[in-house]
Amino acid sequence: MSDFYVPERAMAIFAHPDDIEFSCAGTLAKWVKEGTKVSYILITSGDSGIADPKIPKEKVIEIRELESRNAANIVGADEIIFLHEPDGLLEPSLELRKKLVREIRRFQPEVVICGDPTVILVSDSYINHPDHRAAATVAIDAVFPASGQPNLFEEIEKDEGFLAHKPRKVFISSWQNADTFINIDSTFDLKLKALRAHKSQMIGWDPEERMRDWTAEIGKGKEMKYAEGFKLITLVTDEDWKISNGNPYILDEQKHKKQKEMETKN
Ligand SMILES: [Zn+2]
Repeated sequence: MSDFYVPERAMAIFAHPDDIEFSCAGTLAKWVKEGTKVSYILITSGDSGIADPKIPKEKVIEIRELESRNAANIVGADEIIFLHEPDGLLEPSLELRKKLVREIRRFQPEVVICGDPTVILVSDSYINHPDHRAAATVAIDAVFPASGQPNLFEEIEKDEGFLAHKPRKVFISSWQNADTFINIDSTFDLKLKALRAHKSQMIGWDPEERMRDWTAEIGKGKEMKYAEGFKLITLVTDEDWKISNGNPYILDEQKHKKQKEMETKN
């Protein structure tokens, strides 16, 4: 048993290859070491992320997906799914929400990790990428309430048999709004190695110093050398999770049982 929270299954949903490495790969690597099954969902394949006009988009996608797979392997993720939305033009559409609901119902994560949809102005020299905001918005909208409502996108169950699923917790990767800090001293090296796997993004730049500075800043005053920060949202109580594992049918049954008990008492 570990002395920190370890989910059975975790799904990271982000816009671009390398977003996971920047924001939460240290946490995911730590969980993987404890046995967590991890799914990476990349909404785009970073097809606008190589500025060389001589390299066609199809080739860019190939390069970036391969780099992402390498990064996911370094952390020990169990799968990586690309949704192939257009990089730089991401919108939190209902169509995309449905695609994410399908992935959540298929994988049944206990925890979903995504970006912070409320962050627009990051610092006096950085505006949050609009794709990051769109990805974060559509991710939380897929998590709640859609993925846990059997009568919403019910065709997913009809067509593929994936039942509605309520994730237990959402870890919103955030600097500004963080209230939960994960010590990544033991997995900082894996996070850095995974980030370096995105070779096309590292030309003329070594991320080590900045990564050490950023994660040390988050860990400051918390007895952690390096940390990642999250705003934690708990959607299903410990008690309800124990009974249901996120199955809304079981939660509903439980509610009706309680109702009957209350009626017989009165
Ligand atoms: Zn990004």
